[in-house]
Amino acid sequence: MITCTAVEALEDNYIWMLDDGVRAVAVDPGDAAPVHAFLSRRRLRLSAILLTHHHADHVGGVAQLLQRRTGTIEPVAVYGPTGSGIPGVTRRVFDGTRIALAQPALSFRVVATPGHTLDHVVYVLEPQSGESALRMFCGDTLFSCGCGRVFEGTPHQMVEAIDRLNRLPESTLVHCAHEYTLRNIAFAQSVDPDNPILAAWSRRATELRRERVPTVPTTLKLEREVNPFLRIDNFEFADRVRRQFRLPDGDRVGVFSALRAARNTFRTRDE
Ligand SMILES: [Zn+2]
Repeated sequence: MITCTAVEALEDNYIWMLDDGVRAVAVDPGDAAPVHAFLSRRRLRLSAILLTHHHADHVGGVAQLLQRRTGTIEPVAVYGPTGSGIPGVTRRVFDGTRIALAQPALSFRVVATPGHTLDHVVYVLEPQSGESALRMFCGDTLFSCGCGRVFEGTPHQMVEAIDRLNRLPESTLVHCAHEYTLRNIAFAQSVDPDNPILAAWSRRATELRRERVPTVPTTLKLEREVNPFLRIDNFEFADRVRRQFRLPDGDRVGVFSALRAARNTFRTRDE
């Protein structure tokens, strides 16, 4: 049995921990302290680290997590994208790389998703026994009701990256690296005000956050209904965006860019 836990870190990051009750994998440990606390509370040993991209809030805890292990039996395997110069990475991954961990026994497939950064990758976990859904650990590429800022790539690359994730089955669980859901919903409602599924998700996510429960993972099925960045091929929605932002007749990348630019300057009350 594999347990998947969202460990809160830094301001609004989630470090995803996968464990079999003995050994654990950490995805994007931006800070070592909450990972150490989780491991000691659950009496787990860290066996591997998966990194999605080079930003400090995703890799900042790696050095300390490795240091603490000096003198112990086996080294922690650190998987990360090639070419990004992330210190501590021992296993470089590329688009299509298959990762088979022995303990915990987990198999991942790597999907390259350049856009937020050029090195960004997503780890897709094969279903575990008793489960049927894939799980994607998508870092800062996809969030609930949102997507990452396009820092290093082009909007075209980001759209392609999101398309690649969106080709996974609708049951795929979306494990993103930040709790941005309520802010993203506020933005989504400003461009998609009459969407009843989005309104329902807003009520549900508000309830969850009131109890300090993570709103993620969500599913691709839900995101396809509520996430503006996954809805650029919906005729009515795209048409509405074109009118709202006075786009002459923008193609799907144009619609995406208009949405992303508007999200960059959109502020909710707590931002
Ligand atoms: Zn980032």
